[in-house]
Amino acid sequence: MKILTIIGARPQFIKASVVSKAILEQAGLTEVIVHTGQHFDANMSDVFFDQLGIPKPHCQLDIHGGSHGEMTGRMLIEIERVMISEAPDRVLVYGDTNSTLAGALAASKLHIPVAHIEAGLRSFNMRMPEEINRILTDQVSDVLFCPTQTAMDNLKREGFEHKPIQVLNVGDVMQDSALFFAQRATPPLGFSQNDGFILTTLHRAENTDDPVRLSAIVEALNDIHNNIAPVVLPLHPRTRGVITKLGLEIKAKVIDPVGYLEMIWLLQRSGLVLTDSGGVQKEAYFFGKACVTMRDQTEWVELVECGANVLVGAERDAIVSAVGGNVNRSIADDDNLYGGGQASTRIASFLASL
Ligand code: UDP
Repeated sequence: MKILTIIGARPQFIKASVVSKAILEQAGLTEVIVHTGQHFDANMSDVFFDQLGIPKPHCQLDIHGGSHGEMTGRMLIEIERVMISEAPDRVLVYGDTNSTLAGALAASKLHIPVAHIEAGLRSFNMRMPEEINRILTDQVSDVLFCPTQTAMDNLKREGFEHKPIQVLNVGDVMQDSALFFAQRATPPLGFSQNDGFILTTLHRAENTDDPVRLSAIVEALNDIHNNIAPVVLPLHPRTRGVITKLGLEIKAKVIDPVGYLEMIWLLQRSGLVLTDSGGVQKEAYFFGKACVTMRDQTEWVELVECGANVLVGAERDAIVSAVGGNVNRSIADDDNLYGGGQASTRIASFLASL
């Protein structure tokens, strides 16, 4: 079976690093990778291919920037061309980005079956571009690889159990990546034996596109950095642009986005993770750290339910007090919430069985 995989954004590279390896090792499967170009900076894209051994994309579309509609539309045009010339048996998409939606839509219109990795996640916030992308992608896919029981339950509630498609709980491929690369963690430039810092990431549109939320978050980071523990912030390029435009002053240790091996090193040594990322919430858990999430909802509700993650929104005092109350609290993965690191082999062997 010839699989055409669409990737384009940082978390998709990290997920593909383990799934593409499993596909390569599975008899009967071949893979053609298409990189849409959604993320294109060297430290948002190339570094992951170099570090994680992801096969070189067969095709680079170099599509980024513009509005959501413009970016998705351009991807749709180009992806359709590639699909027609490659004639794959199946298309594989990951997560919830514009690249995911464009890949799924182009394939389904060409009647090429689509498998969606990280299916069934919901924030129930339709103002999130990711929520729109994931709902629509699930609708046009015929194989839905769910990472959690919560995702399975969401799809059941939406009536997917009555559809003639396959819905499977395979576990979370991000746990596979975390386990696989944990031994190869490496310090970012300028770091040596530091520990106990607050590892922060910040890039969700609901925070970066709202000056009130963003200012409150920056004030909270400054307060935490001065009064609780040093804040280390590998800053997403889009967030950096907005912060500069608004003239906000950050006192935290701001560094450029790091590679995945450096990110794991930081995760392993942090005293707490403070984030609005989806993936980083789980990685905090994989590495035994408490997480404070600067969002109003999360797709990873099981982490909140088991007490590993605290949802605080974007209020300065709520962020500071949750960080103060949870710093250096260690977390145990007793409940095997994410499948234990076997998701990518389960996915590859299921695909081979089709
Ligand atoms: N990540 C990274 N370097 C960084 C920041 C994040 O390698 O400087 C990794 C992180 O460990 C996780 C993934 O990027 O595996 C998460 O991506 P992101 O937060 O951009 O997206 P989301 O998960 O929110 O969709």
